[in-house]
Amino acid sequence: MPSKKLTIVNGRRVLVDAKQRIRQDSDRQYNQHRQSTKSNYLSFYHSSQWQHIRRQALLRDNHICQRCGLEATLVDHIIPSEDAWDGRLDLDNLESLCKDCHYWKTKRETIKRKKGQHRYMQINIIAGYPGSGKSTYVRDHVGQHDLVYDYDALMAALTGLPLHVHNIDAHDYVSLIYELIMRKLKAEQTFDNVWIIMTYPDKRLDSLLVSRDLHHYMLSTSKDVCIQRLINDKRNIQQLTKVFNKIDELKSIGKFENFKII
Ligand SMILES: [Zn+2]
Repeated sequence: MPSKKLTIVNGRRVLVDAKQRIRQDSDRQYNQHRQSTKSNYLSFYHSSQWQHIRRQALLRDNHICQRCGLEATLVDHIIPSEDAWDGRLDLDNLESLCKDCHYWKTKRETIKRKKGQHRYMQINIIAGYPGSGKSTYVRDHVGQHDLVYDYDALMAALTGLPLHVHNIDAHDYVSLIYELIMRKLKAEQTFDNVWIIMTYPDKRLDSLLVSRDLHHYMLSTSKDVCIQRLINDKRNIQQLTKVFNKIDELKSIGKFENFKII
């Protein structure tokens, strides 16, 4: 049997004769097309300036993929250079990635581009007493291409514990997810809506997402109704009293001023 090699033809894996040269012509055609249409773009990636800043980014990131922690093999623009040409040599706009993470990032960007430049993302902050129905409200309003940050739901997902049972050690991990989400939302407009369920207002949100369309909502469910619900759900009222008091205190000093009552 002649020796074979595994290769990809039209996106499918096939075995061909080892000597056969596949896609040679189309590759050449593709490269010529790419060179003629994107010569500026390509010459940048061959420039010594880029090679220099690229090395700096890899050193800063210790050659670790900033998304998954595996070995990074390439350096990517957080905000694509096609969208922000001026930021192409800005170290803060660079991140080291592995091949897989880069693939998925690029794929998402292509989808986003197809959906149009005018796409805009609304960020909804949902506050309210415990038991006021924050998660239910979001569940009733969430769309097909939205992101939901729900501390309690994440805690349950990460620990396997029942909803509202908190593992103090997992808290850091849930918070880490929150930080990462905030960081990414700053750079991307990936979703139609982002829903952030929170108990206390987070002043970092307003500074982080200052340029985004930010909406604050507070559920109007009264304290009595909330407490009755929590009792029905066999929740620890003793512990939650502290949360109720804290919310009332923050309300009294105007910390929920910009929240629209719904
Ligand atoms: Zn990765």
